[in-house]
Amino acid sequence: MVLDWKTRATAAQTEQGESTGDEAISPRAQALGLRTLDDLKLEVLRQRTTWWAGSAYHCPLCDVDFISPQRAAEHVVLEQHPVLRMD
Ligand SMILES: [Zn+2]
Repeated sequence: MVLDWKTRATAAQTEQGESTGDEAISPRAQALGLRTLDDLKLEVLRQRTTWWAGSAYHCPLCDVDFISPQRAAEHVVLEQHPVLRMD
């Protein structure tokens, strides 16, 4: 099972309309060099193939952590957020 990250990311961007690039990104994500929503989307796309094999996930928009891919995927589907694998 692979989520359609690209479609979701594009939809999220469209909904936001005129983005200023000032979306709140958690300090934890910024520490990884991810400072914009585009950075997050690219990182998630990069992780796509091994994303489901993780045991630590983080939503940079909510600053919330998940300990299983199931919980993380739930958040992706419900909130349409780019949840990162952190392990
Ligand atoms: Zn979130």
